[in-house]
Amino acid sequence: MQPRPYVIDQMISAKSIAARIEALATQIRDHFHGTDKLVVVGLLRGSFVFIADLVRELDLPVEVDFLEASSYGDATHSSREVRILKDLRGEIAGRDVLVVEDIVDTGHTLTHVLHLLQSRNPARMEVCVLLDKPTRREVEVSATWTGFTIPDEFVVGYGIDFAQRNRNLPYIGKVRFTDTP
Ligand code: 5GP
Ligand code: MG
Ligand code: MG
Repeated sequence: MQPRPYVIDQMISAKSIAARIEALATQIRDHFHGTDKLVVVGLLRGSFVFIADLVRELDLPVEVDFLEASSYGDATHSSREVRILKDLRGEIAGRDVLVVEDIVDTGHTLTHVLHLLQSRNPARMEVCVLLDKPTRREVEVSATWTGFTIPDEFVVGYGIDFAQRNRNLPYIGKVRFTDTP
Protein backbone atom coordinates (compact mmCIF):
# COMPACT_ATOMS: atom_id res chain seq x y z
CA MET A 1 0.00 0.00 0.00
CA GLN A 2 1.28 3.47 -0.88
CA PRO A 3 1.70 5.64 2.22
CA ARG A 4 -0.49 8.73 2.22
CA PRO A 5 1.54 11.77 1.17
CA TYR A 6 2.25 14.21 3.97
CA VAL A 7 4.39 17.17 4.93
CA ILE A 8 5.67 18.13 8.36
CA ASP A 9 5.00 21.63 9.67
CA GLN A 10 7.42 22.74 12.36
CA MET A 11 5.75 23.23 15.74
CA ILE A 12 8.66 23.46 18.22
CA SER A 13 12.14 24.42 17.04
CA ALA A 14 15.35 22.64 18.04
CA LYS A 15 16.41 25.85 19.78
CA SER A 16 13.22 26.04 21.89
CA ILE A 17 13.59 22.38 22.84
CA ALA A 18 17.20 22.92 23.95
CA ALA A 19 16.25 25.97 26.05
CA ARG A 20 13.38 24.10 27.70
CA ILE A 21 15.60 21.12 28.51
CA GLU A 22 18.10 23.37 30.24
CA ALA A 23 15.32 24.71 32.48
CA LEU A 24 13.92 21.22 33.16
CA ALA A 25 17.39 19.91 34.03
CA THR A 26 17.87 22.67 36.59
CA GLN A 27 14.58 21.78 38.32
CA ILE A 28 15.36 18.06 38.25
CA ARG A 29 18.85 18.64 39.61
CA ASP A 30 17.47 20.77 42.46
CA HIS A 31 14.84 18.14 43.27
CA PHE A 32 17.29 15.22 43.39
CA HIS A 33 20.16 17.26 44.86
CA GLY A 34 22.39 15.03 47.00
CA THR A 35 21.23 11.74 45.48
CA ASP A 36 23.95 9.10 45.39
CA LYS A 37 22.71 7.80 42.05
CA LEU A 38 19.69 8.60 39.96
CA VAL A 39 18.36 5.92 37.60
CA VAL A 40 17.02 7.67 34.52
CA VAL A 41 14.56 5.36 32.79
CA GLY A 42 13.84 6.15 29.16
CA LEU A 43 10.73 4.71 27.57
CA LEU A 44 11.69 3.40 24.16
CA ARG A 45 11.66 4.24 21.45
CA GLY A 46 10.25 7.75 21.39
CA SER A 47 12.27 9.19 24.28
CA PHE A 48 15.74 8.25 23.03
CA VAL A 49 16.67 11.71 21.73
CA PHE A 50 15.09 13.53 24.67
CA ILE A 51 16.83 11.39 27.29
CA ALA A 52 20.18 11.82 25.51
CA ASP A 53 19.88 15.61 25.63
CA LEU A 54 18.37 15.70 29.12
CA VAL A 55 21.03 13.59 30.87
CA ARG A 56 23.79 15.69 29.31
CA GLU A 57 22.29 18.76 31.00
CA LEU A 58 21.86 16.96 34.35
CA ASP A 59 24.58 17.71 36.82
CA LEU A 60 23.97 14.58 38.94
CA PRO A 61 25.42 11.06 39.14
CA VAL A 62 23.15 9.09 36.80
CA GLU A 63 22.64 5.61 35.51
CA VAL A 64 20.59 5.18 32.34
CA ASP A 65 18.22 2.30 31.73
CA PHE A 66 15.46 1.64 29.22
CA LEU A 67 12.06 0.06 29.15
CA GLU A 68 9.94 -0.51 26.07
CA ALA A 69 6.19 -0.50 26.28
CA SER A 70 3.87 -0.56 23.32
CA SER A 71 0.46 0.98 23.00
CA TYR A 72 0.52 2.15 19.42
CA GLY A 73 1.04 -0.05 16.38
CA ASP A 74 1.98 1.88 13.29
CA ALA A 75 -1.31 3.71 13.36
CA THR A 76 -2.19 7.08 14.80
CA HIS A 77 -4.71 5.57 17.25
CA SER A 78 -3.93 4.21 20.67
CA SER A 79 -4.87 0.58 21.18
CA ARG A 80 -5.24 1.21 24.93
CA GLU A 81 -3.52 -2.07 25.47
CA VAL A 82 -0.09 -1.70 27.00
CA ARG A 83 2.50 -4.45 26.80
CA ILE A 84 6.06 -4.48 28.15
CA LEU A 85 8.30 -5.46 25.23
CA LYS A 86 11.62 -4.87 26.99
CA ASP A 87 12.13 -4.60 30.71
CA LEU A 88 14.81 -2.70 32.67
CA ARG A 89 18.23 -4.32 33.01
CA GLY A 90 18.78 -3.03 36.54
CA GLU A 91 17.02 -3.11 39.91
CA ILE A 92 15.24 0.03 41.11
CA ALA A 93 14.26 -1.01 44.65
CA GLY A 94 15.33 1.71 47.08
CA ARG A 95 16.69 3.86 44.27
CA ASP A 96 15.86 7.35 43.00
CA VAL A 97 14.15 7.01 39.64
CA LEU A 98 13.34 9.52 36.92
CA VAL A 99 11.03 8.20 34.19
CA VAL A 100 11.49 9.99 30.88
CA GLU A 101 8.71 9.79 28.30
CA ASP A 102 8.16 11.48 24.95
CA ILE A 103 4.39 12.16 25.01
CA VAL A 104 1.48 11.69 27.38
CA ASP A 105 -1.66 11.38 25.30
CA THR A 106 -4.52 9.21 26.64
CA GLY A 107 -2.31 8.43 29.65
CA HIS A 108 -2.60 4.63 29.41
CA THR A 109 1.06 3.96 28.67
CA LEU A 110 2.46 6.09 31.48
CA THR A 111 -0.11 4.83 34.00
CA HIS A 112 0.74 1.23 33.22
CA VAL A 113 4.50 1.80 33.38
CA LEU A 114 4.31 3.79 36.64
CA HIS A 115 2.25 1.06 38.31
CA LEU A 116 4.78 -1.53 37.27
CA LEU A 117 7.79 0.48 38.45
CA GLN A 118 6.10 1.53 41.70
CA SER A 119 5.53 -2.15 42.54
CA ARG A 120 9.33 -2.53 42.64
CA ASN A 121 9.56 -0.03 45.52
CA PRO A 122 11.85 2.75 44.34
CA ALA A 123 12.85 5.24 47.08
CA ARG A 124 11.55 8.12 44.97
CA MET A 125 10.06 8.19 41.49
CA GLU A 126 9.35 11.27 39.39
CA VAL A 127 8.37 11.70 35.77
CA CYS A 128 9.58 14.06 33.07
CA VAL A 129 7.68 14.18 29.78
CA LEU A 130 8.59 16.26 26.79
CA LEU A 131 5.07 16.74 25.44
CA ASP A 132 1.64 16.64 27.01
CA LYS A 133 -1.68 16.52 25.15
CA PRO A 134 -4.07 17.02 28.09
CA THR A 135 -7.21 17.23 25.94
CA ARG A 136 -6.83 13.57 24.97
CA ARG A 137 -6.53 12.17 28.50
CA GLU A 138 -8.59 9.06 29.33
CA VAL A 139 -6.91 8.13 32.61
CA GLU A 140 -5.66 10.68 35.08
CA VAL A 141 -1.90 10.81 35.18
CA SER A 142 0.49 13.71 35.28
CA ALA A 143 4.20 14.22 35.07
CA THR A 144 6.28 16.00 37.67
CA TRP A 145 7.89 18.05 34.86
CA THR A 146 6.51 18.74 31.40
CA GLY A 147 8.41 20.25 28.49
CA PHE A 148 5.53 21.58 26.41
CA THR A 149 1.75 21.33 26.53
CA ILE A 150 0.47 20.91 22.99
CA PRO A 151 -2.92 20.71 21.25
CA ASP A 152 -4.35 17.49 19.84
CA GLU A 153 -2.11 17.14 16.78
CA PHE A 154 -0.16 14.12 15.62
CA VAL A 155 3.47 15.09 16.07
CA VAL A 156 6.79 13.68 14.87
CA GLY A 157 10.50 14.37 15.17
CA TYR A 158 13.04 14.62 17.99
CA GLY A 159 12.75 10.85 18.53
CA ILE A 160 9.04 10.59 17.81
CA ASP A 161 7.93 8.64 14.74
CA PHE A 162 5.19 8.31 12.20
CA ALA A 163 5.19 4.63 11.19
CA GLN A 164 8.84 4.46 12.30
CA ARG A 165 9.92 7.41 10.17
CA ASN A 166 10.97 10.99 10.98
CA ARG A 167 12.54 10.20 14.39
CA ASN A 168 15.73 11.93 13.22
CA LEU A 169 14.19 15.38 12.71
CA PRO A 170 15.91 17.84 15.09
CA TYR A 171 12.61 19.67 15.76
CA ILE A 172 9.03 18.69 16.55
CA GLY A 173 6.52 19.06 13.79
CA LYS A 174 2.97 18.11 13.05
CA VAL A 175 1.93 15.79 10.27
CA ARG A 176 -0.27 17.30 7.60
CA PHE A 177 -1.66 15.05 4.89
CA THR A 178 -1.57 16.57 1.44
CA ASP A 179 -4.02 14.27 -0.36
CA THR A 180 -7.02 15.97 1.23
CA PRO A 181 -7.61 19.73 1.13
P1 5GP B 1 -0.92 7.21 25.59
O1 5GP B 1 -0.85 5.83 26.16
O2 5GP B 1 -0.71 8.30 26.60
O3 5GP B 1 -2.15 7.42 24.77
O4 5GP B 1 0.19 7.30 24.51
C1 5GP B 1 1.46 7.53 24.78
C2 5GP B 1 2.31 7.12 23.60
O5 5GP B 1 1.61 7.22 22.37
C3 5GP B 1 3.46 8.08 23.48
O6 5GP B 1 4.51 7.69 24.29
C4 5GP B 1 3.77 8.01 22.02
O7 5GP B 1 4.65 6.93 21.78
C5 5GP B 1 2.43 7.75 21.37
N1 5GP B 1 1.86 9.01 20.88
C6 5GP B 1 0.94 9.80 21.45
N2 5GP B 1 0.71 10.91 20.74
C7 5GP B 1 1.52 10.81 19.67
C8 5GP B 1 1.77 11.68 18.54
O8 5GP B 1 1.23 12.76 18.37
N3 5GP B 1 2.71 11.23 17.66
C9 5GP B 1 3.35 10.04 17.78
N4 5GP B 1 4.20 9.69 16.85
N5 5GP B 1 3.15 9.22 18.82
C10 5GP B 1 2.24 9.61 19.75
MG1 MG C 1 6.32 6.93 24.22
MG1 MG D 1 5.43 5.47 18.12
